[in-house]
Amino acid sequence: MTVDLHNYVATVENFPEIGVDFRDISPLMGDGLAYKQAIDSIADFAKNLDVDLVAGPESRGFIVGSPLAYALNIGFIPARKGGKLPREAERASYTLEYGGENILEIHKDAIKPGQRVLIVDDLLATGGTINATREIIEKLGGVVAGVAFIIELEALHGRDKIMQAGDVPFLTLMTY
Ligand code: IMP
Repeated sequence: MTVDLHNYVATVENFPEIGVDFRDISPLMGDGLAYKQAIDSIADFAKNLDVDLVAGPESRGFIVGSPLAYALNIGFIPARKGGKLPREAERASYTLEYGGENILEIHKDAIKPGQRVLIVDDLLATGGTINATREIIEKLGGVVAGVAFIIELEALHGRDKIMQAGDVPFLTLMTY
């Protein structure tokens, strides 16, 4: 049995700012069938990509990436917000969708040169988060094997921004 994942996305008007429709995947994560279906769909996409590692940005990227890595029998790398990792880390900064700057970091020894990394997150908006994650992975000698999201906000053209940094296999389970 499959479910329509759209039924598990809550739309919150005017959050976090007036005029923004926030797409909340909490109902999807809170439902065993919908959550498993979403992760299994990304795992199917990953099967042909020869992936060595899954990486996801803090914090909802962890909720997508950890079960995915488990399903694929490979490791998971967290891209953490600046200043949280205890050991030497590579970093990249990016501009947030609603203004301001953020920093993401990955431990320098998390990726061996040539390893193929699938980047995942709950949602693609402007693409800044994913391109920063990608920048770090590439600085460490990793190869981006693909990118996958549960939701893509098409109007913000994040997909174009990702492809401008270099073509990669792309999956999104829902577009808004
Ligand atoms: P981007 O960097 O502009 O692509 O923003 C994507 C990041 O912001 C992801 O890590 C999302 O979790 C978060 N984000 C942005 N907009 C939304 C939204 O409408 N719902 C949930 N998360 C969002």
